[in-house]
Amino acid sequence: MDDCIFCRIVRGELPASKIHEDEHTLAFLNIVAAHPGHALVIVKPHVANILDLDDTLAAAVFQTTARVAKAVKAATGCDGVTLFQANEVAGGQTVFHFHIHVLPRYTNDKLLPFWPASSPGREALDDMAARLRAVL
Ligand code: AMP
Ligand code: ZN
Repeated sequence: MDDCIFCRIVRGELPASKIHEDEHTLAFLNIVAAHPGHALVIVKPHVANILDLDDTLAAAVFQTTARVAKAVKAATGCDGVTLFQANEVAGGQTVFHFHIHVLPRYTNDKLLPFWPASSPGREALDDMAARLRAVL
């Protein structure tokens, strides 16, 4: 993908403050940080989102994410770490090359909005679980 920002970072055509690099993944700091240490972990090949991720890349990117989360915690002294990962426009994705945000969090930082809590009930839960099992 010639124009993809993250592909250009992988190729070294755009600058990035890199944290980690291996065969399948690259981690670097987000240019717009929620808190200092806000990192992104990407897969090196151009994969648009999680729906196109194969098992090898999925395993590799989560392994790197776990390592980066530990590094973020150790280096920033944050109180917690939140992972955020968006897919497609409706999912809030703005860069269409798979990535996981690693967000340092602080007590009461109120960084992320959360969805309203409501329980659909066991029957609806079981029905949805069956629908998901059928396509897994
Ligand atoms: P998302 O909205 O989940 O797709 O996240 C895309 C993220 O990429 C945003 O948080 C941007 O700040 C970040 N981003 C965009 N361009 C760059 C860049 N050149 N270097 C580092 N991070 C970037
Ligand atoms: Zn790309």
